[in-house]
Order: sequence, then C-alpha cells, then structure tokens
Amino acid sequence: MLSKVYSAGLLGIDGFIVCCETDVGSGLPQTVLIGYLASEVREAADRVRTAIKNSGYLLSPKKIVINLSPADIKKESCNFDLPIALSILSSYGIIKTEAFNGCIFAGELSLSGKLLSIKGTLSIAIAAKKAGFKKLYVPSANASEGSVIEGIECFGIEDLNSLVSVLNGEKTHPPHAIYNESGYDYEIGGDFSDINGQEMLKRATIIAVAGRHNILYIGPAGTGKSMIASRIPAIMPIMSMEERLETSRIYSVCGMLDADKPLLKKRPYRNPHHSISPNALVGGGIKPKPGEISLANHGVLFLDELAEFKRETLEILRQPMEEGRVSISRLMGSYVFPADFMLIAATNPCKCGFYPDRNRCNCNINQIKHYLGKISKPLLDRIDICVETRLLNYDELRKHGSGQKSTEIRKIVENARIIQNERFKNDGILFNSQMDKKLVDIYCTLSKKDEEFLKDIYESRSMSVRSVHKILKVARTSADIDKSEQICRRHICEAISYRSLEEKYWGGIMR
Ligand SMILES: [Zn+2]
Repeated sequence: MLSKVYSAGLLGIDGFIVCCETDVGSGLPQTVLIGYLASEVREAADRVRTAIKNSGYLLSPKKIVINLSPADIKKESCNFDLPIALSILSSYGIIKTEAFNGCIFAGELSLSGKLLSIKGTLSIAIAAKKAGFKKLYVPSANASEGSVIEGIECFGIEDLNSLVSVLNGEKTHPPHAIYNESGYDYEIGGDFSDINGQEMLKRATIIAVAGRHNILYIGPAGTGKSMIASRIPAIMPIMSMEERLETSRIYSVCGMLDADKPLLKKRPYRNPHHSISPNALVGGGIKPKPGEISLANHGVLFLDELAEFKRETLEILRQPMEEGRVSISRLMGSYVFPADFMLIAATNPCKCGFYPDRNRCNCNINQIKHYLGKISKPLLDRIDICVETRLLNYDELRKHGSGQKSTEIRKIVENARIIQNERFKNDGILFNSQMDKKLVDIYCTLSKKDEEFLKDIYESRSMSVRSVHKILKVARTSADIDKSEQICRRHICEAISYRSLEEKYWGGIMR
C-alpha cells in the first residue's frame, strides 16, 4: 500500500517542504531509501526500523521503498526519521492515512522510539504555514519554538508510540501553548553608566551607533575597549519583530536557541577570537553553516586585536559588509545567510600597545608599520570612525557610575534614527553611513565658510576623497544627534577629529 507524509528540510535558513512516499510490496525483504539523500538520511532506514520494532510494532518482512521528493534538492539532517517511520506504519495499515491531512512532521528518532530535538524548527514552521499546513508535529524540546509562528498549531511529541495513538484518535494531545514572552526579561548586561571617564570614546560610540558607522578603537590594553563594545547592543534601538525572527532563525538552524526562549530579544553581540578561521567567521563548510557575522545579524560584531587576525580572514569580510548577507555556492544549491551587522574593531597601536607614549613604548617605526600594516586597507575603508582610547587618571578611575545610562543613550540613538528614516525614505537606504557620493552631495551641504574650512583641511593634509566623504557622513550624524538640520562647524570638527587619528596612524607613519 502506498502512503504519503509531509515533512520539511532546510536550505540555509529557509525551510522547504518534503514529501515522503512509502510503498510496501512483495519482493526481497529490504528497505530502500531514494531521493538525493545525505548519508545521515540514508542511515535512517536502519534507525527507523529499529525504532518501530522497539515501539512495539511488528512488521512482516516485505520490500519497503521510500522516496523523498523534490529530487533536485539534497535532503540533509535527521528531521526525516519521523515522517519516514509514520509513512511506513501507514503503509502497513497501522495508522489511518486520513490522519495526515493538513499535518507536517519533523523529528529525529532514537533506537528506542523516543523523539530527539532537531534544528531549524522556526524555519520549518514558517515554511509549513506558507504551504498551508495546519498542524506541525515536532519533538517536545522544539515545541515552544514551533509555537512562535501564528496560524499553525504546534504539537510537542515525546515518542513514536504516543504519536501513533494521537493520530489514530485513541488519545488526545493539546497543541503547545501559543508563544508568550511575558516573564522573560530584557537582560541587557552591563550598563553604559558603568564606564568611567573616556568621554571622547563614548561620544564617538554614540555617533557610530546612531548613524550605523563602523568604528575602530585604538589604544593600549586595559582602556575599556571591550567593556564599551559589549554595551553597544543595549544602546541600539529595540529589535523589531522582523529583525528578531530573522536573527532567531539563524540561531535556530545552528541549534543555539534556548528551548524556553525561542525568540531573541536582545541584539546579538559576538566577539570571535583572532585565531578564528575564515569559514567560522563568514560561514561555510561542506554543508554551509552560518558564521559569526550571521550570528551578529542586526547586532554587533566585535573584532578585538584586529591586527592579529589573519589577513585572508579579514579580506573575506568585505563583500558581506557591502551586501549585508553572505552567499555561499555549493553543488547542491546556493545558500544565503543574513549578515547585517555593525562592526566594532579594536587594536593596539603597536605590538607592546603603548605607542605614541615613548616613555613606555620601545617599538621602532618599522615595527609599528609592520604591526598596523597587517590591517587591510579595504577593511579600513569601510570604517568611518577611528577613536583613541587612553588610560584613565586616578580621579576618573575612582568615579562611579556618573555617566549616562544605556536607556537614556538609546533614546538619543532612536531619535537620530527617526531623522534618518525620514530623510532616506525614497532613497532605499536606512543610515547616514550608507550614503553614496550622490546622496552626500544632496544631504551634506555646508555653508560657504564651512566649505572653505573643509577645503583648507583637505588640501593642507592631502586627504583622500574617500576621507572627505566619511567626514561629511559622520558630521551628518553628529548634526542629527543635535537635531540640527544644518551641518555646523562643530560637527565638521568633531568628524575630522575621528579621521585625523586614522591619518596619524595610517597616513603619517605609513606613508
Ligand atoms: Zn610599542
């Protein structure tokens, strides 16, 4: 008898519907699985037969043929164990076929027949709802994730036996409660007011977040670079539902979501070590998986000790930074992972970390050049703000919690973002940092006097055209924070101060 059960697989972070057909007939007793399968799916034959036997169902020896379609997409993961088991049982007449109407199933089986948790339930639920299914059956551990999506009922199942009783109407099983996040807190982590002193660093960071400019901190170890970076997600605007769903799906396919907190509430903060491989940073592998930059989607990627990263690791960041996503091509298809993140980078100015303090730093100019030269120029081109961090003096060190709180700063950032949304509503971008030359010409006009001022600086410092554009974009954000329509001299001066440093390090000594 022929039977049909629906399931879903994953391609990147997107779910796709899979139909599992089983035919049981006469012939040499064996189980044949076909349909462009990865090795773990082919192994399902033995796993599923044993799970069925240990769940107490005796199957007479027959030839069982199972086909998973569509045939042109490779089926990976153990999600298909459950639909395969159900279609076999149905072919033997143990489950009524009409029980499968409007239902979709995903789950891995242990040899005892228990259901084991799977990855990507969120994406599966989205795909299932889109395809018109009404009921989704997944392992209990994944049920709260499946219940996030409205319009499809999600059922958490313990083992094969109990599911068969439910499908045959011998037992009732209520759907998992609809997702409700009251009772789980915002858990921001440390507050901005914990940071003593470092006013310039804080101000530069607020501007960077407000205009979504990438930023580089440069200075000795122990000056609070990572302390401030880790607090940045808390001053970014609250995540929209769309952003939360997209980012949660990435965590879901990586198996990194908490069973009881299936939707990320906090913007991600990722700080991979400098020894990370290019694949782990941007994603990849034989079966492509999201990398750190995708895990930082809609949040912060903090690269500490930037000069210690391998050059090829940093080079590979360029394209995703431009596009806000990573595309990975493989024989079996092309994978796209979102990677829309804000880059915070930090570096020591030299190997010992104390340049330009010549009382402590003994590095010679060639050593400093070599150290900073390891950071690729194209990456620096994508960083708008560069700011120096310094060691605190004693008074600053002893002052406690005097600065602005994260919630206050977030308000400032949100207001600046509203101005930008309004400004760019017909331009297809969201932030000042995304302006191209044409938009800079439109939105960053200066008074005649200020134009002369910037021209002087451009000529006297022999700046690059790119530098001038960055100055104008950062000045635009600084003015937005001040709610000033016009970019004034103080905004330009502030923006220049974040550039002159980069020139001091990468312009002056590197020339
Ligand atoms: Zn040094």
